[in-house]
Amino acid sequence: MIDYRSNGFVLIVCAILWVVLGARFLINSATTEREYVPPKASQQAIESFVRSQLDSLQARSFAEGIELCGFVFEDENGNLDTTEVYVGETASCSYDYRWPLDVRPVAGYHTHGGYNPQYDDEAPSIFDMEQDIEFRIDGYVSTPGGRFWRVDWQNERAIQICGEGCLAQDPKYRPCPADRPVMQYSLAELRTRITVAEANC
Ligand SMILES: [Zn+2]
Repeated sequence: MIDYRSNGFVLIVCAILWVVLGARFLINSATTEREYVPPKASQQAIESFVRSQLDSLQARSFAEGIELCGFVFEDENGNLDTTEVYVGETASCSYDYRWPLDVRPVAGYHTHGGYNPQYDDEAPSIFDMEQDIEFRIDGYVSTPGGRFWRVDWQNERAIQICGEGCLAQDPKYRPCPADRPVMQYSLAELRTRITVAEANC
């Protein structure tokens, strides 16, 4: 999904484009027909696992200029593992929801590709947040600037866990002070962020 700023048509990344309609059916089968059960793994353990996973994907994501994505799931003892990593495109990545029904996904994750000044990709997109909330799963995002975000679906907030450079950073990355993301966004605040006048960076 791509939005445009009102002035200048700067492309806004919606970094995850869940393109396959069939996938919605599959995720509905996988998640919304089940009661939400809190993960056995601790929030800290999940966050740490995803952070390591995303950090390891950053270099490839930058080099190839593509998003990479996947899911973390846990077994009955709360041990974490990841699905295969799915290869996306410049500003999208399609998940594959065909996990067995006895496997419980606890988080989704995706990179935001390489640095591109046309994209506002240092924060999760509205679409990222909406999808995580709809499908009742936390989502984690890494950015070209090396930021690490969590979309907390239950509280409907995007939280910047750590800032610029805390994960691997694209060598081509140039910060945009006028467009610097704050530490947290509600969905409404995120909508405001992308409707402000174009930042000249
Ligand atoms: Zn995204």
